[in-house]
Amino acid sequence: MHKNRLRFLVILILLLLLSSTMFATKALLLYKGSEQGYGYNVQLKYIAPELKKLLIDYDVIDVETDSFKNTSLNDYELVVSCYYTSQMNQAKQYLKSLFDYICQGGKLLIINNIGASIDSSGTNNPGLQELNSVYNLLGVSYTYSWKKSKPIQVSINSEFQADKTLSFEKERDVESYLFIGSNIEPLIQVVAGDNKTYNTAFLSPIGGMIGYNYLLDDNGKVTVNLSRVFGELIYGDWKNYKLLVVGKDNYELRKALDYTLLDYDWTPSLPSVLFGYEAVIYLNDTVELNDAVLNNYMLDGGTVVILAMGSVTRVIKEIEVTNDIFPVPNEFKISWNKSVRFQEQKTSSEILLTSSDNDVLSWKIEIGSGQLIYYPIDLLEKRLRGLFIQTVFSQLPISIQPVINSYSIYLDDFPLPAYNRKIDALTREFGDITDNNFYYNIWWPMMKELAKKFGIKYTTAFVANYNASVTWPFSFQEYINTPEQEKALQELLDGEYEIGVHGYNHIPLTKSNWKEDELADVLRTFKIFLRNVLNEQYVPYTYVAPNNIIDEFGAKELLKVFPDITSIGTTYKATDTISEFSVIGDKTVVIPRTTSGYYPVQKIISDSVLSIMTLGTFQYFVHPDDVFSTDRNPENKTWKEMYESIQSFISIIQMYYPFLNNHFSSESAEIIYEFLTKKPHISLTDKEMIVSLPLECDFPRYYYLRANKPFTISGGRIVFVSNDLYVIAQLDDVMKIVF
Ligand SMILES: [Zn+2]
Repeated sequence: MHKNRLRFLVILILLLLLSSTMFATKALLLYKGSEQGYGYNVQLKYIAPELKKLLIDYDVIDVETDSFKNTSLNDYELVVSCYYTSQMNQAKQYLKSLFDYICQGGKLLIINNIGASIDSSGTNNPGLQELNSVYNLLGVSYTYSWKKSKPIQVSINSEFQADKTLSFEKERDVESYLFIGSNIEPLIQVVAGDNKTYNTAFLSPIGGMIGYNYLLDDNGKVTVNLSRVFGELIYGDWKNYKLLVVGKDNYELRKALDYTLLDYDWTPSLPSVLFGYEAVIYLNDTVELNDAVLNNYMLDGGTVVILAMGSVTRVIKEIEVTNDIFPVPNEFKISWNKSVRFQEQKTSSEILLTSSDNDVLSWKIEIGSGQLIYYPIDLLEKRLRGLFIQTVFSQLPISIQPVINSYSIYLDDFPLPAYNRKIDALTREFGDITDNNFYYNIWWPMMKELAKKFGIKYTTAFVANYNASVTWPFSFQEYINTPEQEKALQELLDGEYEIGVHGYNHIPLTKSNWKEDELADVLRTFKIFLRNVLNEQYVPYTYVAPNNIIDEFGAKELLKVFPDITSIGTTYKATDTISEFSVIGDKTVVIPRTTSGYYPVQKIISDSVLSIMTLGTFQYFVHPDDVFSTDRNPENKTWKEMYESIQSFISIIQMYYPFLNNHFSSESAEIIYEFLTKKPHISLTDKEMIVSLPLECDFPRYYYLRANKPFTISGGRIVFVSNDLYVIAQLDDVMKIVF
């Protein structure tokens, strides 16, 4: 019998899922007028605001009036009832109307109790049969076992818990609701005085209940995340925005997809059903596709991306990208200078990417109402992850990609000790000056001018010494070489800049360089030194790793002495895990530099834009001594030439990507931490897309959005448009895009 009931429920749920589109998104909130405003107040105070957040309209109606009798429940997608008493006029009829409503696809959330277990007439009371005709549809069986009891233990489903500190000391009601469906989730479970566990709040795709006195805790705090509950009830049958990858594991592809924060499944071989995926990425040795499932998927409108080698091998100098893939400046060309194995385009295909010699590297063809995209797997390397994502996403009917939308500019090794050296590169350009004169009288004033001109903020990385000491004694002799380092440091304190730290000296914090004790000593010494020369209020939030190198050991020691550091700078060019945008420790993020140096403009543009394509960020580093460093100024350019180059770089970036926010490293670190730890949930139908964020997110959050049809947005706004790319700011927990 139990089994039959389950099967019935499963069939019923399937039917309901199909019919649910018949209803408009509107909720009916019921209360009893005889309860002196009790239910009415709960509905208006706790329920209505959550529905508003989800953009769900509602009506509030007294169940004891004629206006309820004249209401058709089928006009509503959701009914929320809140009653205190269990008497109702014509209770059986009310239960029957709920039963009919749910059978036709309606959803019901009961707060406190069903409110109709006794008929007000005193006779014709509903029995368990009538009550369970409603409860069973919600996935539970009710057994009349009401009692009052002091809860011994209360557990709240962590996915739905609204507040971390809830108190349930007072005596409360418990009743026994047994779960009869596998798709019902407990929200609150209580161990009562009899040592039995009671489900006092639960949720199924059809509805649920938050039992007597469990909506609020002893202090009046709401216990469960109601917008989440309503979101599941209203939108639970939407499909998630999700991709499928078929083939062997591929680290670069995995990272590229992870950085989009989107859901994806990965299977070694093709599943027999492809329903529900926005695109299928097919990693294969050859381009040949003879699979009926994939063909049917494309005929029905699906996108298949073939990531494979090809029959042509050619050395490619540069890769060219057009605005159809991503808005890029004219200066944007990706230098490659390696061979690529690629597949010649099929006749009637559309060109997506070419080489500077006009080889077609990536292309697509339409198949039925869908399409097939070819992309050479040789191009899937770390630097080009974003290029792959944009090439694919620009071709999807609808695509969305969460992005960081923040960039930072670092003055690495600044302020730094000077040595009153005469340096050829400097004297040639400026006459009889020293390194000290250049850093502090030429470079720094001009960098300040640059910041003013472009409205940018700098994060500096202060280095105290360049000695090679890794054992005691640790002193700060170089700091007093010239007074200018101290002066610059004081100037940075005024708040227009962020002072990050580079270290006591320039020796990377790694296990191979430092003994644990010595490292702890030098970090403590550096901390005391900072307190001496800056002020008590100064707290370093940003650390930039010398030579971009740090290991887990070094990061751990660093955070022990400087627990407030939230940003550790490394380089994206490396391949270890500390070279990825990632969380390390409790609240610290690794921010790898994506771009550095003053020239060539084409290179720093391409490094930055590729990173903007990947995550909507770039992290730019320059040094005061770049001009006379042979590896960082290989073309022996003058400082004047380099200064012109950095200006054209920043003006191009600001012109093409005006939506990008510029932040201090510590500000960016908070944004990146939020981005990496609070993933949006994205679901859609043909007509709408819902983007919902976990509780307590910082706003705005940003997305790249592309759609092949017009749309309106609520809970967010468009901040930038170029060709078919929209940059969207999400301003509320739930953002709705209606097509
Ligand atoms: Zn450095």
